Amino acid sequence: MFSELLLQCVSTETEIQLNSEHLEGCVCLLQALRVVQRLTRDKCSLLFSMIDSLWPPPVDPESHDGLPQSHSDRVPPPSFCYRLSIQQGHMVPVSRQAESPLYRPPVLQTLREILQDESLRFRCSFRATVVHKHILSSNAGEVEMLLFVTDPSLQTEPNTEGNGRTVAVCLSPSCLIRSSVTQALDALQQQPVLKFRDAVKEHGQIFCWDQTVIQLEPEDPSFSIPQPIILDHLGPETLPYSLCSVTGVIVAVEESTAFSWPTCSRCESCRLETREKQKGFLCLVCGAVMDEATIKMQLEVFLSCPSLTHCTVKVKLQQKTIHSLLNSTRCLEGYSVENVLGSEIGPLSTLVHVVNRSHTVWMGLEELSFDLR
Ligand SMILES: [Zn+2]
Repeated sequence: MFSELLLQCVSTETEIQLNSEHLEGCVCLLQALRVVQRLTRDKCSLLFSMIDSLWPPPVDPESHDGLPQSHSDRVPPPSFCYRLSIQQGHMVPVSRQAESPLYRPPVLQTLREILQDESLRFRCSFRATVVHKHILSSNAGEVEMLLFVTDPSLQTEPNTEGNGRTVAVCLSPSCLIRSSVTQALDALQQQPVLKFRDAVKEHGQIFCWDQTVIQLEPEDPSFSIPQPIILDHLGPETLPYSLCSVTGVIVAVEESTAFSWPTCSRCESCRLETREKQKGFLCLVCGAVMDEATIKMQLEVFLSCPSLTHCTVKVKLQQKTIHSLLNSTRCLEGYSVENVLGSEIGPLSTLVHVVNRSHTVWMGLEELSFDLR
């Protein structure tokens, strides 16, 4: 039998860390237990994918001398599980030194191994470098996001067909994200390495749920990926929510969404005021006074890509690309469509937002901030 134990009064991150580090693998004495729920396989399929990953136990749980399992490998994994509740202080490790023979530490796999496993649903643990995050929804502090990750197995080994250079990991709002991880995800240009324990791969997608543990990993030279990172090339089979590199020639500009606005040259705020009787601007956020504001632009262009004939590709460009495009066509004061048409851009790092294959293939992309060359 397996049970899921809810620890009461474990609220701070330090407590969570202490509990997971001190109790994991330990034989514990449990007192004053309360049964909260009886969980079955149909109702809690995700929890049972965890139980299945721990089955069969490495030793026979019924033998008291820790002999290797004999008959339990022929017994199917349990079909139910109790959710138990216990007050703080009522779960005491019997021995801190000895690890239980029943304990199965997570086995780290490479992302390539995980992608090549075609099982419908399975647990996986891995280390990965985060290259981009995309918020899917944010509601009253509950955030659902996609992390685009990669590792040396995807970046350095020759690319075989069907395997991406990056993988999207979906973090559900129920997945606990520690503040150290949140901070690392806020400074993504440093490409933090995270360890994902007990994520679930289902229908080709990796998800992080309630039982998934995400930790920030220390720097490790043996886990470095060559820079700049490699992305898959945009192709006719590319799926939405994937990272791609794209190269092409600008054939049209989306004029209805193109606009420019002045921003503070110090803090990039757009809350500027023209100064009375004097030239220039005052920033209402940081107080800076400047003769000329920094002009930012929104620009979406249509590309003709050599690898994608009969396919419409629209890319929302980053400021740096817009500026280099306008600099190279020498028209910083108000751009003119004729000047950027025919310019070749790329390779750009992009996130594919929309793929529409109803009549002809139409793809909507957004350029990302990291460079590919
Ligand atoms: Zn400012």
